[in-house]
Amino acid sequence: MTEEKLSFQAEVSRLLDIVAHSLYSEKEVFLRELVSNASDACDKLRYAAQTDGSLTAEDPEFRIALTADKDARILTVADNGIGMNRDELVENLGTIARSGTGAFVANLTGDAKKDLSLIGQFGVGFYSAFMVADKVTVVSRRAGEAQAWRWESDGRGSFTIAEADEANAPKRGTRITLHLKEDAAEFTDEYRLREVVKRYSDHIAVPIVLLGKNEDGKEEKETLNSASALWTRPRASITEEQYKEFYHHVGHAFDDPFLTIHWRAEGVIEYTGLLFVPSQRPFDLFDPGRKHRVKLYVRRVFITDEAEELLPSWMRFLRGVVDSEDLPLNVSREMLQNNPMLSKIRQGLVKRVLGELQKKAGDAEAKDAYAKFWDAFGPVLKEGLYEDFTHRDELLKLARFRTTASNGELVSLEEYVARMKEGQDAIYYISGEDRAALEKSPQLEGFRAKGVEVLLLTDGIDEFWVPQVREANGKPFKSVTRGGADLSRIKGEEKDEAKPEEKTESGEVGSLVALLKTTLGDQVKDVRTTERLTDSAVCLVADEGDMDIHLERLLKQHRQLEQTSKRILEINPKHPMVTALAARVSAQGAGSELEDAAWLLLDQARILEGEPLPDPVAFARRLSQLVQKGLGSAAA
Ligand code: ADP
Ligand code: MG
Repeated sequence: MTEEKLSFQAEVSRLLDIVAHSLYSEKEVFLRELVSNASDACDKLRYAAQTDGSLTAEDPEFRIALTADKDARILTVADNGIGMNRDELVENLGTIARSGTGAFVANLTGDAKKDLSLIGQFGVGFYSAFMVADKVTVVSRRAGEAQAWRWESDGRGSFTIAEADEANAPKRGTRITLHLKEDAAEFTDEYRLREVVKRYSDHIAVPIVLLGKNEDGKEEKETLNSASALWTRPRASITEEQYKEFYHHVGHAFDDPFLTIHWRAEGVIEYTGLLFVPSQRPFDLFDPGRKHRVKLYVRRVFITDEAEELLPSWMRFLRGVVDSEDLPLNVSREMLQNNPMLSKIRQGLVKRVLGELQKKAGDAEAKDAYAKFWDAFGPVLKEGLYEDFTHRDELLKLARFRTTASNGELVSLEEYVARMKEGQDAIYYISGEDRAALEKSPQLEGFRAKGVEVLLLTDGIDEFWVPQVREANGKPFKSVTRGGADLSRIKGEEKDEAKPEEKTESGEVGSLVALLKTTLGDQVKDVRTTERLTDSAVCLVADEGDMDIHLERLLKQHRQLEQTSKRILEINPKHPMVTALAARVSAQGAGSELEDAAWLLLDQARILEGEPLPDPVAFARRLSQLVQKGLGSAAA
């Protein structure tokens, strides 16, 4: 029989290196991982057997069996689930097929401590076997197939694959043999196995049995777990720890859930939901597929974790199970599409989850935890603001924002509106990628001077939902980089408020504006004075009806937009440079020097906006001429 030697995917090798050499304090979790996989395998076969009963006819009872051999220091974990054929062994146990892997591996640093915490978040699943074993043998037979296969590895770069010895192969399913390292001998101890299974795997619905022999050499069987689906048990009988372990199993997750929601819906449609809101972002949260991973069961039988209709994409961070009493058991995945029963369930799930989130959002004691939740999943919920009209109001209540006045804390729209200034009739916002950069935007100066709070929007999705939603709490959203600033109507906090404004509209500034317009021509849509600025001389804004500056840039980056619209150049009539230029224009009229200054003003505004200069050479030439002149006159 030929044996093939194959290399692990490079990412797996790196992972195994860390796994094998790190002093991971909780080595025992390897068993949880193997049992979790075995249970998934049983679930998959139970589903397949709904349409092809012959797959389980000979052995209808699912189980996961542990056997320990103290003397040989060997532990085996065997299941009679779906099994794997050759290709599946190579694919599943040679690569990391899970999505988000790229991001995960890119984050590995080589620093054992950091990498370990990362592995803690991502999980290494099957590969955790190499924490306790220096050799792992997997013999597996895919249900319904004749040939069994043997996979073997010492976890160092490569593995072998060969046809399995028929006498030594399971009839169906997978048997994993762990040749334990010296310091992992404890895992042949029955007492220890009992303890570990009880701690991490009690919720597994398939019986986990420990096979052994008594003193007389007679076969013995002991079931180590409760072996009933956790979600079917009464809430009061389930500990927080058990919920957490179940979450780890069902969500392939490793953090603590932020929320655990377990309920039974009764009435026209009956189902049980056990849903978790993670506390950390799963690695695949922003995969283009936007798929959720909640598992659909029908009367305890696993159907699929790809029932897209079960939850909206904007709730894809949820993990857990939904077990329907009404759907037919032989429901195919295709039948789930546009299924009215499923859409009823979906409505129920969304309502329930939003309700629970609302409770947390309103709970003063949960403020920090909610803020963490919002930072992790707010951008996903905001997708709901954009695409799901029916839940808009609830989502707006859940939404939190950092603002120019919040000092990094999160603020609700209700709070924002409650502290709006007298005369303020809009919710002001500014959007961009980076909060620190946004806070320095010149367009904010006037707002800051008046003490008007501005939302700092830094999620890409903000560009889409804000124009779609348009208003909240009866107030329109207004970008501070678009349209007129109309700050004069707002009663602010400035000390010099009493000062007459007429000076700003004086004839001198008027001539400067006229000069700028003629010089800059079609490079700008308009030139005007503004109250938006206090410190800076100039800024660019978009016209009222035009697209927001940041959105345009985003679309251009993604090549969704060919041409950007023209901006309005706003000048600060109180800025000393502007008043000096204005005086010069009034005294001398136009001239090449003033024209250069006009272009410099526009380029300065572009730089402040973070936009590339269309003609950097001309900019440099004008600037150096100006500096030379300045120096020359100073010397004279
Ligand atoms: P995960 O369980 O998160 O997918 P693992 O590393 O634990 O990641 O397992 C990788 C894959 O190997 C599983 O998705 C499954 O397809 C396959 N697998 C592992 N163990 C078994 C098993 N006992 N029976 C059948 N397939 C298995
Ligand atoms: Mg797994």
